[in-house]
Amino acid sequence: MVSAVEVRNISMAFGTNQVLSGVDLTIDKGQTTALLGANGAGKSTLIKILSGVYSSFTGEILIDGKAVTIDSPTTAKLAGIETVHQRIDEGVIPGLTVAENLLFDKIVSGEIPRGVSLKTIVNEAEKIAGALDLNWSRSKLRNDVYELGIAEQQMLILARTLSRSPKLLILDEPTSALSIAESQNLFRFIKNLEEQGIAVLYVSHKLSELEQIAKKLVVMRDGKIRNEQSAPFSWDLALKEMLGQKELGERSNFKQVQG
Ligand code: ADP
Ligand code: MG
Repeated sequence: MVSAVEVRNISMAFGTNQVLSGVDLTIDKGQTTALLGANGAGKSTLIKILSGVYSSFTGEILIDGKAVTIDSPTTAKLAGIETVHQRIDEGVIPGLTVAENLLFDKIVSGEIPRGVSLKTIVNEAEKIAGALDLNWSRSKLRNDVYELGIAEQQMLILARTLSRSPKLLILDEPTSALSIAESQNLFRFIKNLEEQGIAVLYVSHKLSELEQIAKKLVVMRDGKIRNEQSAPFSWDLALKEMLGQKELGERSNFKQVQG
């Protein structure tokens, strides 16, 4: 397996709270790596470091084997790391059409000149949507973005993200607002990305999802990587490492008390 992104010895503290300690992680090309951990384990902090939200960490990030400086969302994107955060409503821009939302980066950067007709924008958006197998009609592309359902808004954000051809796509609990059918649709979409060689880092608590899409499982607890497995996974081991011995012990006592 060829690695897309390597995280080496990353540590970070918020004040006296050491949130990540010596995290090493290799994310391979063309497959999904799952990140599992209880609340507070440090998953979001690690993701935010990779997406350039935090810059006060120590350690190294390598992309295609070369050390890169990631100290802002812009440098993360330039390095090829795209992140879809959990709250998708933060990613769509209200008051704009679906097409304008799809092309938002190009409109902001001036690559698509200001004052260009909606027809031209819809034409461009149609190409991006089509390339990703989103068969959205022209009238749909002309609609206000809020006329899309949650799953479609998420697909829009994914499409916009992917139009920048990332090396690594990070998805933080992407199915939390999706139905089962919509989730399956997303998984097909992810398979498609894998075939194009894109690496995916997928955070979720839903073990059945991870079982379905991930080839590699990484378990965090208290800011450290505790367990790494290749599929097929031992969920017993993963959960034991996720919760730690102490809590598992407390749980079994609890069971006994419950009788
Ligand atoms: P997870 O995503 O696995 O639930 P987080 O990375 O969000 O974990 O949090 C890890 C630890 O860092 C927790 O103890 C949390 O309270 C703390 N933490 C997260 N963000 C901040 C912040 N902005 N300021 C201070 N502490 C934080
Ligand atoms: Mg989190």
